[in-house]
Formats: sequence, C-alpha cells, structure tokens
Amino acid sequence: MRDIAATLLDLESRGLYRRRRLLDSAQGPQVRVDGAPKLSFSSNDYLGLAGDPRITEALCEGARQWGAGAGASHLVTGHQRVHEELELRLAAFVGLPRALLFSSGYLANLAIVTTLATPSCEIFADRLNHASLNDAMLMSRVRFRRYPHCDLDALERQLAQSTAPEKMVVTDAVFSMDGDIAPLDRLLELCERHDAMLVIDDAHGFGVLGKDGAGSLSHFQVDSPRVVYMGTLGKAAGVAGAFVAAVDPVIELLIQQARPYIYTTAGPPAVAFALIRSLELMAQESWRRERLVQLSRQLAALLKTSPWRLLCSTTPIQPLVVGKNREALALSDSLAASGILVPAIRPPTVPEGTARLRISLSAAHSEQDVLRLVEALRDAQDAIPSEAGSQ
Ligand code: PMP
Repeated sequence: MRDIAATLLDLESRGLYRRRRLLDSAQGPQVRVDGAPKLSFSSNDYLGLAGDPRITEALCEGARQWGAGAGASHLVTGHQRVHEELELRLAAFVGLPRALLFSSGYLANLAIVTTLATPSCEIFADRLNHASLNDAMLMSRVRFRRYPHCDLDALERQLAQSTAPEKMVVTDAVFSMDGDIAPLDRLLELCERHDAMLVIDDAHGFGVLGKDGAGSLSHFQVDSPRVVYMGTLGKAAGVAGAFVAAVDPVIELLIQQARPYIYTTAGPPAVAFALIRSLELMAQESWRRERLVQLSRQLAALLKTSPWRLLCSTTPIQPLVVGKNREALALSDSLAASGILVPAIRPPTVPEGTARLRISLSAAHSEQDVLRLVEALRDAQDAIPSEAGSQ
C-alpha cells in the first residue's frame, strides 16, 4: 500500500505543505481568521460584493421564492426559470448570443475543452493557463501543445506547422498568478488566419475589465463567432458558479454532450437569483472598478523601492515575486503576525524559483489598508533576507 504519511512528510520537508485557514466571518477586507482579526489581501472578491448585504438579501429572497435546491440536473427537471433568466442576462452582459450556467469554472473549462475538441483537433495553450484548462486538455485526450506565455510568434509558428483539420487556442484572459492580460485582439486575428476556435477563460476579468465590468472581450472590443468565453461567478460577482457564452450552436452542443453539464445537479436557484442582483450592482457601481485602478497605482508607487519585484499588472492581482518557497512563506507569516493576510503561492502553482505573495486588491479596500500592507512589508524586509538580486 502507498505510504501516504511519507508523502505528506516529504511535502512538509520541501515547504509545499498546504494548510487551510479557518474563517469565522464573511469574506471582505476585514476578516476573522484562525481566531484573530486580519486585514485580508487574499480573496478573489475583487469588487467587494461577496459580503454585500443587498446580495445576501437577494439570496434569502431567492430561497424563499425558489426553495433551497434545484433537486435535479438541468436536463432532467433542475432547470428553473431563474436559471434561464440568469443565462439570458449573462449573455447580454458579455455581449454574446447565448450563455450556459455551470456549477464552477473548473467544470465549465472541462466541459468546453472535452466537448468542443474532437480527435481531429489540435489544442494550443498558453503555458501559464489555469490548472483547470490543463486538466481539461489531458481529459480530452486530444493532441495539445503549450506555447511560451503570451508569445504570439511562437503560437503562430505552432499553428502554421500544424496539419490538424481543427484547431483550438486556449488562454486565460487575466493570468491568475501574474495578473497580466492576454492580447486577445491579436490572438483573435491569429485564430482567424488559422481558422482556430478561441477559448477564453475570463475568471479574473469578468466584472473587473471592460465597460460596466463586461469583461475582457469588452476591454479589447472584440467580438467573433469563433470565441468561446468562460466567466466565473464566485470571484468579482461575489457569489458562486460559472458560465460559458458563445454562439447558439456551441451552447447547444454543450447542453447535448458536455458531461460536466449533464451529470451534475443544477446549482441552487437562490444563487442564480442572487447573481441577477449582483449583475445589476456590477454594472451600476462603476466606482468599484475605478477604486481598483487607484489602489493598484498606489501599491505600485509605494513598492517601487521594495527588494521584491512587483509584477507589472493593471488588474487587481498584484504578485510580489520573492523567489524561494521558504522565503515567500516567511514573508507571508511575518505579515500574518502583523495582522495582514497575503497568501504565499508556491510551485507547482507557479514555476520553480518564482514563489510569490499574491496580493489581491478589492474595491472594498481603502488607501489606508494599502498603506498598512506596505508598512508591514517594509518591517518584514529587515527580518527576512531578500534573494531578489538572485532572480
Ligand atoms: N480559471 C481560472 C483562471 C481560475 O483562476 C479559476 C479559479 N481559481 C478557475 C478557472 C476555476 O473557477 P472556479 O473557482 O469557479 O471553479
């Protein structure tokens, strides 16, 4: 039998052991974690909506109207009118003809790739894509190649070399550990030239980028029938779930054949009801996106002289690259001791030697919160010898 205890010890010895922190509060900048109050820069609640009382109230109202559970998969009897209504609104929100709800972004990505890529397809994927897209490619058992991060020349060469009759390019829109944005306009041009489908994972752009938070397609003002768009609803939208948006035949094929859609219970109707409220607030309260821009500028200006390297990012994901696993952990621990929560992200989530603090900003943060973070980083600097020069 496998010696699982030895595997766990090995993870511990390599600084890769993960521990879950216990939250005793709603999500937000001020949380109670492991029994103590903390200022958090560690959620994907970019717009500060996860704890918004108006959405909580909508969730309660949704439960009163529709009950607690959908009780069946969408193709049996779980597809309630409130799910349908949300799908219509999501499609309109991102400007694509049709949308389909999923229980999570992970499942939506599995569904897209395993359903739309046939054995005659070759997939081309950015090397820094999210794990769910990588898993989806493996699960699809379709040939795939990964291209260096955002290197469109390399991608073009790969596309030109390919003799596959069907091609699919798969990319995160905002890269989850680097915070940078894929050049979707140029990617779409390439896809047009090589007749490829373009799958865009906008988990971190939906609600944050584009007009009224419509996401990355709106940010680049691109629109094409070859785009298959995935947005998540548990990050900026503050609730849970995900959706795929595309032209009608794509959505119809997912309904007919996507196993992660067919063989699972529909999400709770109250969640769909709450998401309708969330979409309204996302569009109406543009100050949330403006606040995020201000806070990211403030952080970049204040960290200019830091020994650690703040990656250039115009999104709320602001990674501070530290280098070694233990050093990143020590920095995160030191901040936690000062009452500030910023997760250390280590391999295999990021490449070896680039362990980092993933600072996530939220519209619910204040300038004072950012100042507190920067001061705590300065204090930690003296306690932790930096390896920044060695990267
Ligand atoms: N794609 C990306 C880029 C993500 O960051 C995540 C979640 N971290 C997902 C997909 C999965 O979304 P969900 O959490 O809804 O499963």
